[in-house]
Amino acid sequence: MPSNEQNAQHFLLGAVAGQAEFILDELKSHSDCLRAEIAGSYRRGNETLQNLDFLVATSHPEAVLDFFTQLPEVTTIITREPSHASVVLDTGVPCELKTVSNAAFPFALIDLTGNQEHNIALRRIARQQGYRLTEQQLTPIDPPNTPATREIHDEADLYAALGLDCPPAELRENQGELQAAAEHQLPRLIEIGNLRGTFHNHTTASDGQNTLIEMTNAAIELGLQYLGIADHSKSSTQCNGLDEKQLLNQLRDIRNINENFTDENIDFRLLAGSEVDIHEDGSLDFNDELLSQLDYSVASVHHAFELSESAMTQRIIRAVENPHVTMLGHLTGRLLLKTAPYPVDIPTIIDACAATNTIIELNCNPWRLDMDWRWWKLAKEKGVKCAINPDAHRAQDFDSLFFGIKIARKGWLTAQDVINCLPRDQMLQALQVKRP
Ligand SMILES: [Zn+2]
Ligand SMILES: [Zn+2]
Repeated sequence: MPSNEQNAQHFLLGAVAGQAEFILDELKSHSDCLRAEIAGSYRRGNETLQNLDFLVATSHPEAVLDFFTQLPEVTTIITREPSHASVVLDTGVPCELKTVSNAAFPFALIDLTGNQEHNIALRRIARQQGYRLTEQQLTPIDPPNTPATREIHDEADLYAALGLDCPPAELRENQGELQAAAEHQLPRLIEIGNLRGTFHNHTTASDGQNTLIEMTNAAIELGLQYLGIADHSKSSTQCNGLDEKQLLNQLRDIRNINENFTDENIDFRLLAGSEVDIHEDGSLDFNDELLSQLDYSVASVHHAFELSESAMTQRIIRAVENPHVTMLGHLTGRLLLKTAPYPVDIPTIIDACAATNTIIELNCNPWRLDMDWRWWKLAKEKGVKCAINPDAHRAQDFDSLFFGIKIARKGWLTAQDVINCLPRDQMLQALQVKRP
């Protein structure tokens, strides 16, 4: 992982998303804007990015480019051409705007969205079928012998013209999506509306900023049907971790609050969990007797990051072999652009989780997004389930679920792969699978 200085030109997805969506809305509101999209790595849902690529279909590029370069968020104009502008925002994020005709929009959008390997592979497929694909059009290479393409109005039309289903933007990384698109085997990816609840969240009992009641109310407000509380355990003294007595008190409070909910009034339940520390030798911060009283536990590494890869791998394997470890929290401990992941053999951990029915967390804190999206396809193939967890330290952090969904989609996950999508009864059963 490069150092902080080398990463000076990278930005977290979570840090740019608010401003990116705001500017997109501004562009869409312009009377000369026919269609607009943020393409590039933002649209693919990459965890970090170097710039934002806006694309607008318009018949009046001058007017749209004037509007864009005069937005209050723009501090520097780098270049301004007839159909393109390059600027820097007040947040330091470089931004490009390209304008195209409405007819060229789907071609430009596909070109600006896929990574380089996806685009090269797509052009090769077009060539094999007798067409030349550019960022502006799809034309027969040998017109008398190749039929003209049907009209192309959007991305799906263009992929369809090549015999392909339209891969969701997050998949356009040349990781098998074009083959799946040709075989009509693309997965139906998870969506934010599929989430019914979430598991790894903190309160003021440890290092959170909102009380148990405040977190509960925020989750109900959000329309969730269950919220798991997993405060830190006693060894995480820097995070005000709970000792056994405090955890049992919290368990009692949670059961008491749940008394207020019946299926007739509010379709909601709290779950009592713990983010239990994994000690250096792989043992846990609480004994099995205590853990068995909880609804679940999230086991996480919070100290002794400097172990060798094999020692760290063995440490985590020992933890997931415990029948009371329901899920594994933030697998590599990375903080994007800040702290490198500790060395750990991820395929071996995935195998251990598959063998023990341990769920792996997709921690959706924008600094973490851990386990990395590049491993989820493998985990899914091995039958490992995912829990999308905001690791919320305040109610506002539930917003991170948006990024968790982006990364889950990037990892080819469907609602069937993610336990947060289960109705409450089935979810509770899923949490019990490992227990004796
Ligand atoms: Zn943690
Ligand atoms: Zn946590």
